[in-house]
Amino acid sequence: MMQKTYELVGEALCLDFTNTVGGWRGGELTENLHGYGDLLSWGVQAGSITTEQEAQLLREAEKRPDEAAAVLAGALELRETLFRIFDAVAHEQTPDAEDMAVFNADLAQAMAHVQVTQHGDHFHWSWLEDNRDFSSVLWAVLRSAGDLLTTPQQLQYVRECGNDECDWLFVDTTKNHSRRWCDMKGCGNRMKVRKHRKKQQS
Ligand SMILES: [Zn+2]
Repeated sequence: MMQKTYELVGEALCLDFTNTVGGWRGGELTENLHGYGDLLSWGVQAGSITTEQEAQLLREAEKRPDEAAAVLAGALELRETLFRIFDAVAHEQTPDAEDMAVFNADLAQAMAHVQVTQHGDHFHWSWLEDNRDFSSVLWAVLRSAGDLLTTPQQLQYVRECGNDECDWLFVDTTKNHSRRWCDMKGCGNRMKVRKHRKKQQS
């Protein structure tokens, strides 16, 4: 099977996760996470799990396919919750209280697995390894969302792609904060072509 390549243009793990679906919510969507294996493969590419964890979780998923499928379904719900929260932020609106409550419940579960480990003379955040817990691929996503929400210097630059037919979110980390598109080659180019055509028509 060909490995799917995920575009990671969100500048934050949680936004890369909301961008695992293409198109826009008001119209046609292209789902990229069709099975639990896709979620793991995205997790490796985005950096929420290692390839060793992916291999172990895949082996577990073969033994308990129904549980893995349920976790994927929950992940897609989480993705929409996070999308609504950051979409609200991008439009300078207050996220829905119910979405925040759902997010916080998931966050609390994820944070129960967090720890601080020592490497030489420094410490860093890490996760208790649990390669039987199918949700572990989402822990770092939830933490990333918590970090982004509590970092005003980044949160104020959360944007939605300027293409009306694209819902992708990103943190605009450009120096003069002028980023408009999720991706210059994709949406940036499409919008330029459209503008050009409109000009020619008029
Ligand atoms: Zn876009």
